Amino acid sequence: MNSRPFYPIGTPGKAWGDPERAEWHSRQRVLRSYAKDVVPVIDRLRARFDVQVYGELNYPPDRYPLFAIRSRNWVAGRPIVLVTGGVHGYETSGVHGALRFVDRHAEDYAGRVNLLVAPCVSPWAYERIHRWNPQAIDPNRSFREPSPAPEAAALMQLVMPLRDQVSLHIDLHETTDTDESEFSPALAARDGKEHVPETIPDGFYVVGDQNNPQLEFQSALIAAVAKVTHIAPPDAQGKIIGEKVAAPGVILFPAGGLGLCAGMTGARYTSTTEVYPDSPRVTAEQCNAAQAAAVCAAIDYLLAH
Ligand SMILES: [Zn+2]
Repeated sequence: MNSRPFYPIGTPGKAWGDPERAEWHSRQRVLRSYAKDVVPVIDRLRARFDVQVYGELNYPPDRYPLFAIRSRNWVAGRPIVLVTGGVHGYETSGVHGALRFVDRHAEDYAGRVNLLVAPCVSPWAYERIHRWNPQAIDPNRSFREPSPAPEAAALMQLVMPLRDQVSLHIDLHETTDTDESEFSPALAARDGKEHVPETIPDGFYVVGDQNNPQLEFQSALIAAVAKVTHIAPPDAQGKIIGEKVAAPGVILFPAGGLGLCAGMTGARYTSTTEVYPDSPRVTAEQCNAAQAAAVCAAIDYLLAH
């Protein structure tokens, strides 16, 4: 018998319709501000980088301009490095780690790569500390044509014309305790499925593409981040979040098939980082530093190969 209470919206075994989605939406509250926490940080970078508004999300009464930060001396023909954060808005270090990378490290790569950074892909969810957009859609399962998520569609419109020049794409995420307490149960309820409990790993790991694993590249990210925070150990079955560990701290997903952000370009090197912010052994500062370290290690690897 399943003794856990069912998610408070919907009927067990029945996928949500519009009324359930509306009820879910009505329960979401603004808990922090994109305009106060994120936009001013981007504005301060304008002195050293080009900032572009690549779209706007219109969710009445709110409007969210979407920002991309580019290398100032963008030269056609140089490899493009794409960094994305906040595809899941609640994953704080994805947003602030991307911004920290730009502020502290991006200039180290000037003249060698063209950097394109979208630090907060899903600002509505950033403000509500949620995984989904207002339609209860996960942007990180929506990178396909036509996309059901405006967050993914706007980013694809920015990136697709440059797709063939993108050599590296790193997408910055977190795995949190709320994945198990809130988001996985919500997903099961939304889709009319049973929630199968999963263990949240204590530590950092990366997700590579099953169809292009690049394990040496993934391992270079793990080695760099291990200097900043601890790496997730495999569980007793040799797995992390139910997936067999391909190398220490590395699991593989079919990125393109799942509509993951990291599968958007088909770049030679792609990785999704997963910082664990709920460990008693890490601070928010370390989480941001871990994301920045992963980006630097990824670019260093690209430039060395
Ligand atoms: Zn995520």
